[in-house]
Amino acid sequence: MVKYFRSLNGKRYPLPIFFPDATQAVVKTLDSLDIVNTQTPGVLVNTYHLYRELGGGLIKKFGGVRKFMNFDGPIISDSGGFQLMSLVKSKNGKGKVSDIGISFYPSKKRKILFTPEKSIDYQIKLKTDLIVVLDDFTPPTASYDEAKVTVERTIKWAKRCRETYDKYYKLGDGPYLIGVVQGGKYGDLRKYCAVKLAEIGFDGLGYGGWPIDENNNFDYRSAEIIAECAPDDYLLYGLGVGKPHEIVNLHKMGYQIFDCVLPTRDARHERLYVYNENSVKNIELNDDKFYSYYVPSKQKNYLLNEPVSKVCDCLLCKNYSKAYLAHLFRINDISAMRLASIHNLRFYSILMEKLGRVAGDKYIK
Ligand SMILES: [Zn+2]
Repeated sequence: MVKYFRSLNGKRYPLPIFFPDATQAVVKTLDSLDIVNTQTPGVLVNTYHLYRELGGGLIKKFGGVRKFMNFDGPIISDSGGFQLMSLVKSKNGKGKVSDIGISFYPSKKRKILFTPEKSIDYQIKLKTDLIVVLDDFTPPTASYDEAKVTVERTIKWAKRCRETYDKYYKLGDGPYLIGVVQGGKYGDLRKYCAVKLAEIGFDGLGYGGWPIDENNNFDYRSAEIIAECAPDDYLLYGLGVGKPHEIVNLHKMGYQIFDCVLPTRDARHERLYVYNENSVKNIELNDDKFYSYYVPSKQKNYLLNEPVSKVCDCLLCKNYSKAYLAHLFRINDISAMRLASIHNLRFYSILMEKLGRVAGDKYIK
């Protein structure tokens, strides 16, 4: 199993790592120093949004997104496919997915063709430490035949992504290149996709698509199939995963990399994650209810002069009371969102530390 995440600037970070979403090269309401102070090692940026907002010129001038946002830790990027697919495959979506790529219309007069080659080219320009192949998203409602079409296209595109990557780097020398496994709920398609991707050769495999089944339960079986098919030296990446207990469960299968909008989005909507213990040592991740949510406006008593979490050593919990945070949310001040985001990111970095220790590795801060 891979033990460290290496970044392009030669630094190594212990796994597992959670990457919060810095979609447009910023974690909303936080600056890069805030992120560092939550002991969050790295962030994920969104290829589609940066491609649309910045193009290539500015990023080239700064020598990559790391210098642009002045963030020293590892930065990973997605392929841009998920956002584009959501646009194109939605009910009123304008655009088309074909074997060539994804064509869409950002405005009436403008048509853009986004291809596997463009996705890799742009991610390499961003100089991110982990890049992801463009894949054809399998919608959760897809029939078997529809899912098969997305899987075949995903494999074809992955091959083109690998060929593009090879023009810049030798696999193992550059940023991590991750193949994405599609196939929806169909286990044999997931298996077929994972095996074919491993034949092409990547640094790791990602659990792609929508991880929730029709009954709104997390689809652990598909995650397990991918983990079983991946070569031993591969990184396993849970794309868009997830809630704390989902991360714990995937980590048991060997997944080491995670990204998700939830902790920061929830924070901005007044939902704070709290461990149900009074010390980090006592947190038991195998316990079903090792955490709960704290929502200031749902509390009967607004006036509590105590921290949101006794376990947490974040800027909020070390300095301010529940009463003060509730006040900041009530008057709709942006600092409420900032403090809550800082707190939730520290919750996730504590989770990673605990998982690192559970796995028997010494977590290095
Ligand atoms: Zn805190």
